[in-house]
Amino acid sequence: MRSLRAQLPLTIMFIVLFTVAIITVLSNQIINREFESYISDQQKQKAEDIVTNVSSQYNSLTGEWNIEFVHGVGMYALYDGYIVKLYDRSGDMVWDAENHDMALCAQIMREILEKMEMSRPNNGGEFITHEHDLTQNGQKIGVLTISYYGPYFLSESDFRFINVLNSVFLFIGILSLLVALIVGHFFSRRITRPIIKTAEIAKQISGGNYAIRFEGTAKTKELNDLIIAINHLAGALSEQEDLRKQLTTDIAHELRTPLSTVGSHLEALIEGIWEPTPARLQSCYEEIDRLTELVADLERLTHIESDNPSLNKSSVDLFDVARIVSGNFAIEMKKKKLAFALVGDAVFVLADKDRLSQVITNLISNAIKYTHINGYIKITVKDSEKNGILVVEDNGIGIPENELPLIFERFYRTDKSRNRKTGGAGIGLAIVKSIVTAHDGTIMAESEVDQGSRFTVALPKYGARER
Ligand code: ADP
Repeated sequence: MRSLRAQLPLTIMFIVLFTVAIITVLSNQIINREFESYISDQQKQKAEDIVTNVSSQYNSLTGEWNIEFVHGVGMYALYDGYIVKLYDRSGDMVWDAENHDMALCAQIMREILEKMEMSRPNNGGEFITHEHDLTQNGQKIGVLTISYYGPYFLSESDFRFINVLNSVFLFIGILSLLVALIVGHFFSRRITRPIIKTAEIAKQISGGNYAIRFEGTAKTKELNDLIIAINHLAGALSEQEDLRKQLTTDIAHELRTPLSTVGSHLEALIEGIWEPTPARLQSCYEEIDRLTELVADLERLTHIESDNPSLNKSSVDLFDVARIVSGNFAIEMKKKKLAFALVGDAVFVLADKDRLSQVITNLISNAIKYTHINGYIKITVKDSEKNGILVVEDNGIGIPENELPLIFERFYRTDKSRNRKTGGAGIGLAIVKSIVTAHDGTIMAESEVDQGSRFTVALPKYGARER
């Protein structure tokens, strides 16, 4: 395979060469044709001039020709390639160039013939004799024959002109070629440099080096887009890689605590250090229950984030689901002496009822977990033009501003909640977000430390799309 760096200048050179060649050949032909027709007209004109000049040398009074002048005109014409013969009214010769200087005539004719046959071999030219009747005041005074090479012949200066023209074309051709070479070289370098560099970077990325980036920009828009895309790709892959590593660490971390608790408890029981009292067995059971719940959460998350989560969507009353789910937490809320209010009206959204229950469950469960005794929890259900809206707010511990964007990440727990024993594994909100997103909805969190938090979920209303 040939490289772009070699192909591009060659292509540019080829195009320029081709264009210059075509232009040169065409213009050369057109100019030559025009020039030849101009020369041919000139020659006819010249013959006419000779005729006029010679006829004016007849004196009608004396019936005599001014031989001296005719001789001058004839000799001038001869040097220009015109062989002139003058006959009087009765057909007798008055002046004849060949008669006058046979050798010179032959030499001039030969020179013209040789030159024309050499430069225009296919022209089919020859010496042709043109006969002109001479008149004065309507009276015939004689006959003039002029022989010259036709359809046209070129003089020394004509040849010089054509040679100069050809040299100019040649010069322009060579110059264009040189310019094409230089421009092609720089242009292709400008284009290929970033492409080669990007290809090199892409190769490194495919080899696992996600830290690499294309520094700087290209001057071409499309190349710039390519560079941005490659840098973005590297960034995204690096993020994925970090997430993957983080996920493994987090799962290991979440599993370690309950496993080591159960392990040490069972060890103590086996070695007879501890009596297997129902309370101790209960504690082991709770740890195993936490593990089971964690695995169930992970499975839920994997399923909802799969490419094709099976959502059993139908028209669901958001208010009704909030009422039923919050009812399930009545005992827990009572235990923490939390004031609870559910306000709003029926709003029908297009949703999978079980998943929607899961969203509200997780939000209420968090509100209970992160709210102090005697606090309050309020759920509001309302609607906007297109969405059903559910707001879950509490006056609990709140979330620091800098951590707010992170709480929807899996396994993310704020420092505050880490220090409390209440916290789960940090998957609840990740599940909430995935479910809401799978329903084409949005979720937003607002919070102030020690003041409370507010989670607002918006889901498309039933029939909103059809309307
Ligand atoms: P967890 O199982 O730890 O509650 P979540 O994914 O549900 O995990 O929540 C992630 C983190 O967000 C929690 O650990 C907590 O720090 C914070 N958080 C969530 N809800 C609230 C809330 N209502 N008040 C304060 N912090 C909250």
